[in-house]
Amino acid sequence: MVNDIIALLRLFESHAVDRETHGWVIALATDRSRWSEAYRVFDHIRERTLVAIAAKDVVRESQYMFEEICLKSLYNETAAQDPFDADSPYWIIKCAIGRARQIGMPVDDIIAVVEGRTELDVAAIEQQGVKCALQAGQDCENPYLNSSEDWQYLAWLRGFISARIPDLECARCGGSGQFTLRSVGGAGEYDGTKINCSCNDPMRGQQEVTQSASPRTDS
Ligand SMILES: [Zn+2]
Repeated sequence: MVNDIIALLRLFESHAVDRETHGWVIALATDRSRWSEAYRVFDHIRERTLVAIAAKDVVRESQYMFEEICLKSLYNETAAQDPFDADSPYWIIKCAIGRARQIGMPVDDIIAVVEGRTELDVAAIEQQGVKCALQAGQDCENPYLNSSEDWQYLAWLRGFISARIPDLECARCGGSGQFTLRSVGGAGEYDGTKINCSCNDPMRGQQEVTQSASPRTDS
């Protein structure tokens, strides 16, 4: 989410009529250690929002509204006792589109920024999963196990499964790499579904080391 916020702020950079608030928000977004200050910065911008609304200055108003929603979302990422509404991140794209319309920017520019970032991130995380599997790592090493963003967990697992060598002694798949889902107590919706096992041969890394370390005997 923060990557979306930063990418969108940069997209709007040359259109920011209030350079000062734009500078505050981008400086804060790019420095995680400052996210707890977002509430205070929000209050400062809120004052300007109210002035812009009273003056019917819609361009300023849409800039501030977007900056406000970014600050709310960043603040909620901290372990704050007084978070803003939980649906704040949902409004980021909506406010960005509203702002784009206000300044005559094609809405497709917003979508391109968000989607482009996502595809790159997914690919990078998949590569982390591939790397772990190739090093004979295990699926429990998924660093996104407790991530609030499911797509990160799944992207890592996808990469991991694509590069793993199933463990011949795996209790779930017996080394075939696939097992069949069986519902407990009768046929459920997914009963009989084939699942790619996420086991990885724990011996593989050792074998590779042994093989490369042993002297060649073939003539
Ligand atoms: Zn398995």
